[in-house]
Amino acid sequence: MHLELLTIGDELLLGFTVDTNGAHIARELATLGVGIVRRTSVSDDAEAITAAVREALDRTGAVITTGGLGPTADDLTRPAIAALFGRALRFDERHWERLREIWRERGRPGELPESNRVQAEVPEGADVLPNAHGTAPGLWLEDDRGRWVAMVPGVPREMRLMLAEQVIPRLRRRIPDHGAVIRSRAVRTTGVAESQLPGLLGEMARGVDGLTLAYLPSPSGVDLRLTARGLGPDAADAALERGIAKLHEAVSRYAYGRDDEDLAAVVLECCRAKGLRLALAESCTGGLLGARLTAIPRSSDVLLGGVIAYANAVKVEQLGVRPETLAAVGAVSQEVAREMATGARARLGSDIGVGITGIAGPGGAVEGKPVGHVCIAVDDRGTLRSLAGNFIGDRAEIRYRATQAALDMIRRSVEA
Ligand code: AMP
Ligand code: MG
Repeated sequence: MHLELLTIGDELLLGFTVDTNGAHIARELATLGVGIVRRTSVSDDAEAITAAVREALDRTGAVITTGGLGPTADDLTRPAIAALFGRALRFDERHWERLREIWRERGRPGELPESNRVQAEVPEGADVLPNAHGTAPGLWLEDDRGRWVAMVPGVPREMRLMLAEQVIPRLRRRIPDHGAVIRSRAVRTTGVAESQLPGLLGEMARGVDGLTLAYLPSPSGVDLRLTARGLGPDAADAALERGIAKLHEAVSRYAYGRDDEDLAAVVLECCRAKGLRLALAESCTGGLLGARLTAIPRSSDVLLGGVIAYANAVKVEQLGVRPETLAAVGAVSQEVAREMATGARARLGSDIGVGITGIAGPGGAVEGKPVGHVCIAVDDRGTLRSLAGNFIGDRAEIRYRATQAALDMIRRSVEA
């Protein structure tokens, strides 16, 4: 089954709201084997809504809309789609009573405002999709040719629940029982450029055993995502497992995890398995590495702590970085990163020390050290490794990329 999605709201077109509804609905339906073949966004404009729904119905005969079901003048989905179907809006007394009850049950002051009356207007022949979590009910409208529109609210929480409780059960009843699903799995890589991956993948660069392959770069690295279409659930899972294993082997040097695994969690697990403890010395990342590690539950059995060594004096006094080193090569150097890593390890009494020092920008670049130049060192039980990277992006991205590179150095060191 294929359908189209229409997200409605000025805020989406102005960029104030990111269309998370579209992403959520697409993911949920894919697991049922229902493909979204087109996503459209329109403003709160009756003509635009009508035109978009008409065109989508002509193409696929099945449409889900989100948004525009509220009680205010900019909520036009209900009348626009009712008019397109040639259905009059009928005020539904029972439904109005139900809305008033919800208002009282929630302990809201006074009575439900009269402006909410439009929410009790139901197009002739429509099914009302109850909203247990808000006032805007959804609607399901179908014409005599079996073409349908499901209208759900824009508020993400209400949309999610109505999708799960009302829309998906209706879709399941319509899906022919061949059971094909759309499923994806991913191998997560870091420290390798997107353009280097096809060379490593060879014949698999465009897909594996009929599974399609997507390259998804982000500040975390490049995810390689395989998607199975047209297989039943068990066959899809088995094919994906085999495909993922092949991909993983081809890029193993750079692969740190699967699906939505976080490198910080992977590093904690590697260290935990070997009984190793970590200490951090962070300059340009200002504690971001510590924050990423402590965001993972149970990190306390691996991470001892860290020093935010921003000023040179702190690098010297708290970590034992030598003033001569600072004077000779500057704070942003592999030498200082190494002394920070060793200092953190010694002062905090850990097995592994990590040092990060760099230029997060936008200012601060010097000859030979551009914005994004970050030096990272790992002292793993006395074995010192360091690197200097030139990371791209704005300040936030450079800092994040630096933590990702540091985590990857720890992972490689521990796994070596
Ligand atoms: P509405 O149902 O159109 O009154 O939308 C209510 C609120 O839901 C809006 O103010 C947005 O904050 C949010 N919203 C609407 N559409 C979306 C969407 N496609 N993705 C995420 N949030 C949305
Ligand atoms: Mg709206």
